[in-house]
Amino acid sequence: MTGLSDSFQRPINYLRISVTDRCNLRCIYCLPPGGVRLLSHGEILTYEEIHTIARAAAELGINKIRLTGGEPLVRSGLPELIQMLAQIEAIDDISLTTNGTLLSHYAAELKQAGLRRVNVSLDTLKQDKFEFITRLGNNLGQVLEGIEVAKAVGLNPVKLNMVVMSGVNDDELLDFAGKTIAEDWHVRFIELMPVTGEGSTAPKFVSAGEMRQRLELLGELEPCLPSIGNGPAKYFRLPHAKGTVGFITPVSEHFCFRCNRLRLTADGKLRPCLLSDYEIDLKQPLRSGISSAGLKQLFEEAVANKPLRHHLAEGYVPKERPFSQVGG
Ligand code: SAM
Repeated sequence: MTGLSDSFQRPINYLRISVTDRCNLRCIYCLPPGGVRLLSHGEILTYEEIHTIARAAAELGINKIRLTGGEPLVRSGLPELIQMLAQIEAIDDISLTTNGTLLSHYAAELKQAGLRRVNVSLDTLKQDKFEFITRLGNNLGQVLEGIEVAKAVGLNPVKLNMVVMSGVNDDELLDFAGKTIAEDWHVRFIELMPVTGEGSTAPKFVSAGEMRQRLELLGELEPCLPSIGNGPAKYFRLPHAKGTVGFITPVSEHFCFRCNRLRLTADGKLRPCLLSDYEIDLKQPLRSGISSAGLKQLFEEAVANKPLRHHLAEGYVPKERPFSQVGG
């Protein structure tokens, strides 16, 4: 194994795999109001195809995989895929990003299959607001239960991701931070990235700087190391807190210079950057019988073309796919 690195000497060892574009929620920051065209069954990579791609990636130096969606738990048999991926020797960390609605049902099976840990999207602690943000969900209780079951079966640390939106859920910043004091909650506050096609009803941005100022009402934020990994969040602890708060700042302070990721869409496109439309198709070559060496060459091509940084600050947003298709 040689290890992958891009044209800017960034080591690439992390693959985020979107296993489906389907979701049982319709979050206002993720999906345009008119919805999106859904992929047909035949357009989506099979678990065997995902496994073949992951094996080639692992031979090139990928050792971390995160499964995402759409909502990954709406695709049936996800534990089977995890079991297949866990058998790839070089893969030492498999994690999942989920909206949590189905987590209590699957957590034990996922853990047993080889899943290490889970991130749960949780944008509010209020039922009416949950329905507003998700455009349909009436299952906030199930998400909270899912978080507890995930902790109980050992999918730790369970990290909670809150996309903070002005006038929507920013009034709950202190409630979420308060949870990290009393309980071992690890909450990451994420800056809203602009979504295409929302017009004047689009949710509005709050900078991490402003979030931090508001949280300091609860006490000084003491910097701390992440409990695991070296992702994009910067972590802090409030005085005497059991858990941590983190800030993810794709807009106010991009972290592209240490990006170690590639993304695989549900329909088999390899994307070196979430926020660029550049992608390489793996599905057609796979279905035409490409060799493992050929697959690895396509990975190397994608890595060689990984952009230095995104251009959100200059107003560039990807046009081809909403985050629901790329996995966020
Ligand atoms: N369904 C799963 C979930 O809800 O976690 C996985 C897919 S979802 C697209 C993954 C993540 O994308 C969410 O946690 C959310 O933080 C992030 N995301 C989606 N749209 C975003 C936006 N406009 N700005 C910031 N983060 C966004």
